[in-house]
Amino acid sequence: MTVAEAELLDYDEVVERYDPVMGMEVHVELSTETKMFCGCPNRFGGEPNTQVCPVCLGLPGSLPVLNQQAVESAIRIGLALNCDIAPWGRFARKNYFYPDQPKNYQISQYDEPIAVDGYLDVPLDDGTTWRIEIERAHMEEDTGKLTHLGSDTGRIEGATTSLLDYNRAGVPLIEIVTRPIEGTGARAPEIARAYVTALRDLLRRLGVSDVRMDQGSMRCDSNVSLMLKGATEFGTRTETKNVNSLRSVEVAVRYEMRRQAAVLEAGGRIIQETRHFHESGYTTAGRSKEEAQDYRYFPEPDLEPVTPSVELVERLRDTIPELPWLTRKRTQQEWGVSDEVMRDLVNAGAVELVSATVDHGASSEAARAWWGNFLVQKANEAGVELDALPISPAQVAQVIGLVDGGKLSNKLARQVIEGVLAGEGEPEQVMTDRGLAVVRDDSVIKAAIEEALAANPGIAEKIRGGKVQAAGAIVGAVMKATKGQADAAQVREMVIAACS
Ligand code: ADP
Ligand code: MG
Ligand code: ZN
Repeated sequence: MTVAEAELLDYDEVVERYDPVMGMEVHVELSTETKMFCGCPNRFGGEPNTQVCPVCLGLPGSLPVLNQQAVESAIRIGLALNCDIAPWGRFARKNYFYPDQPKNYQISQYDEPIAVDGYLDVPLDDGTTWRIEIERAHMEEDTGKLTHLGSDTGRIEGATTSLLDYNRAGVPLIEIVTRPIEGTGARAPEIARAYVTALRDLLRRLGVSDVRMDQGSMRCDSNVSLMLKGATEFGTRTETKNVNSLRSVEVAVRYEMRRQAAVLEAGGRIIQETRHFHESGYTTAGRSKEEAQDYRYFPEPDLEPVTPSVELVERLRDTIPELPWLTRKRTQQEWGVSDEVMRDLVNAGAVELVSATVDHGASSEAARAWWGNFLVQKANEAGVELDALPISPAQVAQVIGLVDGGKLSNKLARQVIEGVLAGEGEPEQVMTDRGLAVVRDDSVIKAAIEEALAANPGIAEKIRGGKVQAAGAIVGAVMKATKGQADAAQVREMVIAACS
């Protein structure tokens, strides 16, 4: 038990005495070609400070120009979240000094967001849905990235050097804010996670962001407060920043509920503050929360208001796809699998990959088996998400084709996939280079059989005497001699033929 753990109230006791209220703020980086207000490329992972210009560096005299693609993505997100789209809205300047933001203000939509008053019906594990109300979705620009060196935590406290990369400065962001989520009781952590999961899946389906929580293109801040059961007024909330995995969302909410309850039980009070989430599963105090007035918001004078026409909004409405989980329901029926199997595939992030593999000609059964077992295991070993493995659905379909065509056994296919994952090229290439094809050459197998029979005269005698069960030992020896590359059933037939 950690020190922090000792200061927590037992979860069952928390939900017996208190009702949690949550609010989720999710930031998503849009995967537009260029940044929000300039023509710099919007790409992750470039050499530091190579994707910058006077506008995103905030140099004097430079002027922003709004990215139309970002506006359209924002509208599509709003529509997919059942929001009203504002026909008119200005950007605002949110003023604060921090070195990751060279202008000393962030251009954001403050009181005139592009999308308001929506909802998302979120599927839960038990098959029901929970409606999360969306207060607003607004556009803003991302900051640069600070890297602190010399401190154990990677935070600025104790750092000796701080590095700045402005490639991310000015990347289009959408912030999606929920209304207070009430009435969840003990299910609060589960529902928080389900919401972020559903939102991620939806945004991915819309194709507006690559929604990689591990790379920061989707980031979640979770607000939590407690009120005594039966109370009508919300308690004071804390805001846990940058909770960067789905699991962490659940852990952070649960942790804050237990921590706040312990404080309240001890007669203390909750301070409205931001908190840092630590990957090992706890939060620590950050800064006390500033008020809106501290930012001296004022309308951005360098940009025209955003005025999407009815025609544009209706055209974009036609591009809104079916909700991913509805598609999933249909897919489940097509594949004919149980809820449990489907849930495992969903949790493994395998559904889209299996579908894509089927689109490349594989049977759904084989595609499910490869993604849902072997590749999940490989992803776990590598500590990455399934879709981050360096193998494509097309390549998995090729391997399945080689197995179906009798060129590879399942065992050899695993080695081929390992080769692809190791960057050795396409499946056929790996198969050739590693010499993995199933041995079909009868003369090679025959020679191996003769050798095995000669080496085991007793067994050979038994088979000749009609005891075909004894053939297993010879088959085993032949498989060993051919390094598993022969087809066992074929070898067995040939052994029996050789002995009759
Ligand atoms: P801030 O600017 O402080 O981040 P926002 O309005 O952007 O505030 O987001 C606050 C989030 O917290 C919203 O999702 C809101 O619904 C939620 N919220 C507001 N009050 C409470 C409360 N007492 N307990 C839990 N969540 C709350
Ligand atoms: Mg906020
Ligand atoms: Zn730029």
